[in-house]
Amino acid sequence: MKFFLFILFLFVFREVSAQGPDPGFTEKMALSESRKMLKIAAFREPANYGETDMIYQRMEWQVDPAVKYIRGKITSHFKAKVHSVNQLTFDLLNNLTVDSVVQNKTRLFFTRSGDNVIIPLGKTLSSGELDSLSVYYQGAPVATAFGSFVCATHGNNVPIMWTLSEPYGAREWWPCKQSLSDKIDSIDIIVDAPQPYRTAANGLLVSEKISGGRRVMHWKHRYPIATYLVAFAVTNYTGYSDWVTLSGGRSMPVLNYVYPESLSYAQSKTPQTVAVMEVFNRLFGEYPFSLEKYGHAQFGWGGGMEHQTMTFIVNFDYELIAHELDHSWFGNCITLASWHDIWLNEGFATYATGLSYEHLFDGEYWKTWKMNVMNTIMSASNGSVYVADTTNVSRVFSSRLSYNKGAYLLHMLRWKLGDTLFFEALRNYFNDPAVKFGFATQQQWVNHLQQVSGTNLSEFFNDWYYGEGFPNYSATFENQPGNRLWIQLSQSTSHGSVPFFEMPVPVRVYSTGRKDSADFRLEHQQNNQLFDVPVSFRVAELVIDPDLWLIRRVDRITAAEMNPAPEQDIRVVALPTGEGWQIICNNDEVPERVDIYDIAGHLVIKETTGTSLIRTASLPSGVYLVKIFTNRRVWQGKMVKGN
Ligand SMILES: [Zn+2]
Repeated sequence: MKFFLFILFLFVFREVSAQGPDPGFTEKMALSESRKMLKIAAFREPANYGETDMIYQRMEWQVDPAVKYIRGKITSHFKAKVHSVNQLTFDLLNNLTVDSVVQNKTRLFFTRSGDNVIIPLGKTLSSGELDSLSVYYQGAPVATAFGSFVCATHGNNVPIMWTLSEPYGAREWWPCKQSLSDKIDSIDIIVDAPQPYRTAANGLLVSEKISGGRRVMHWKHRYPIATYLVAFAVTNYTGYSDWVTLSGGRSMPVLNYVYPESLSYAQSKTPQTVAVMEVFNRLFGEYPFSLEKYGHAQFGWGGGMEHQTMTFIVNFDYELIAHELDHSWFGNCITLASWHDIWLNEGFATYATGLSYEHLFDGEYWKTWKMNVMNTIMSASNGSVYVADTTNVSRVFSSRLSYNKGAYLLHMLRWKLGDTLFFEALRNYFNDPAVKFGFATQQQWVNHLQQVSGTNLSEFFNDWYYGEGFPNYSATFENQPGNRLWIQLSQSTSHGSVPFFEMPVPVRVYSTGRKDSADFRLEHQQNNQLFDVPVSFRVAELVIDPDLWLIRRVDRITAAEMNPAPEQDIRVVALPTGEGWQIICNNDEVPERVDIYDIAGHLVIKETTGTSLIRTASLPSGVYLVKIFTNRRVWQGKMVKGN
């Protein structure tokens, strides 16, 4: 039970803290998020980014985790994508010094402009032509509280250095192309640090050499990688692997670099990664970097960051492990093309965590996960999953909207399409060569959903993605002779941007004592819509969305009087003259208002004059719901109007 409560805590504060209640926590979260805001607000991709394709980068760094300083050589191989390319631009904050730019042992002239390094190539490349050069640089990256390049300590004052660039912090510590349109196809990371320390980084460890009091570790990664996912961390790591079995019986390591003081704790927790990965492999398709590894490197930031093939992680809590692991599929292999659509990373990773509960644990965890996510979403009545303003980071990284509501959008799409089609669309999206190992737009994901289902989802995304808020349902139900059940379903919405949410609404009805039950899927297209469904028992109870498929509140569920004593009943009688329907009440009951709805839920007659005659001549023939508000109660019943 303790484990469980701890998980609930994480639902709200995903990726920000997993260390249990921390008094300074909210402040830290706000600080880290506002830090991200500055990066977003300040960064614009240079105009000539699209002219080149980054093929390969070899990063050689010299560091000491005790000293906040970096010295490096970045060798870049790139290809011209258009004709007449004659310069290359890198992003690099101007407090870092570029010592030289070298090409074939010749120094190239370069200029600094703002936070760019501009390098004329001294020649003109035609489309498809390759070129390469090396940038030598050094400096102390700008000190920030939760920045991209951090020195801290752990254990008994042991220094640790780590990087965390998302979204636009890479340029704070290395000359790079911070692009959301060009991945680096392949990289090598070579870090030279004092001998007691080991380096964790992307890809596979090629070599580890010790000489002269220094340890040089060489990592290579042969998959495309977005710039913000390149990272390294240096401290006195101790390492071990868990193993996962992939298709064809192949084994792949889950490599863990952990603090020596955390070793036994880590070893007790990280094997869960294997079970979660097996679920994701089955649901989405095989782990995309399977020729190399997956891994964790412990670090000191209060959460986790999904650096490609080597997640940096503060601790080994289940949810954090699952969330970061999912980013290998959604976030890393397929990366958002725009921060407007951050749910393509975060909503997916959040939902995947829920899916892991569904598949690995008993039903209660999954249900509680859904309830908590939903409660977080509905803690405010507004807000869209779509991020209109990407300079506002507390919005971009909003756990309520980008993470939780994004996750629930996926859950609702799954309900709308059904498991088979939804997961087929998800696998098709993951395997689409247009996005796999590249970048994806919102529309590319929607296209897969639409293709698989043959359904136009514009309405859904207008309401749920661009629109704000959620529906608040109420229902009235009544049994009729002949085993029919009438249900009138209504909704109000929490935010004016969406007047009505068209959704299939799951409804479960029970007999007295819940001896019998039946499930229905009501295609709710109109407010106050009437549904007539077959049941084989007298319904005593109706529950809207019992399995938590929808973001919704449920307001009022009314069982209409099913078998009133005759002397207490109200009768509505069609007059033989065709004039209308006469309301006949007993005793001192007086009708004060009458509402009549057609089968689609439209209010077709509203009488407020206190009359007991309803003039129905204008109504076409059909079935109507009559609601009578008397001085004592609300009565309702069905009337059929003939020709
Ligand atoms: Zn995430």
